[in-house]
Amino acid sequence: MDTKKVLIVEDEKSISDIIQFNLKKEGFEVDTAYDGESGLEKALAGKPDLILLDVMLPHIDGFEICKKVRETSAVPILMLTAKEEEVDKVLGLELGADDYITKPFGMRELIARIKANFRRIDLDDSEKDDPANVQDFGNLSIDMNRYEVRKNGEPLDLTLREFELLQYLAKKENKVFSREQLLSDVWGYEYFGDIRTVDVTVRRLREKLEDDSGNPKYIMTKRGIGYYFRRP
Ligand code: CA
Repeated sequence: MDTKKVLIVEDEKSISDIIQFNLKKEGFEVDTAYDGESGLEKALAGKPDLILLDVMLPHIDGFEICKKVRETSAVPILMLTAKEEEVDKVLGLELGADDYITKPFGMRELIARIKANFRRIDLDDSEKDDPANVQDFGNLSIDMNRYEVRKNGEPLDLTLREFELLQYLAKKENKVFSREQLLSDVWGYEYFGDIRTVDVTVRRLREKLEDDSGNPKYIMTKRGIGYYFRRP
């Protein structure tokens, strides 16, 4: 694995320092920003492999940065949210963050979460060398190897996580998966996540895939259980 560069955008220097120390110890390259303005600049220009993004920042907050970065980049974003601000988690995910971690957090947990994101990316890179493997589902065609989805021939702009969720469900049409199972298999961890992460990602995916996201034809809800993919 190449050396990965992590950008830490966090205005509390003591927190930033301890994260930086631990990431360097793990062999990561680290860049830091202490306010929203320079955070956004470094996120866009510095080409980090992952961004740790605090929500409450001077000048520009973490949500705004997340939104701006997502306009041009699919870099993994892990939001750092305060425990009392439940709404932050969901809002961050809706703006395109891949994951969040609640303060105060342990370094072992943080590093495990960062590594889980990188494991997925490395896997994805190697799979991209494989030949195309396009499967058609009605108007939708999914290239399982190249991470491309088209609807009526037009490419859809999905994030990595949205693609992986769609791919996972579509590989087993009509099989119902619980949120817990999806979180474990698609997100790759069992203990840290919140099942609302799955709901928010399904919602985002439906907005991109479905003609009417309120009346889905592909990603179906099995009430009280979870989700499944259906060929329309
Ligand atoms: Ca802060």
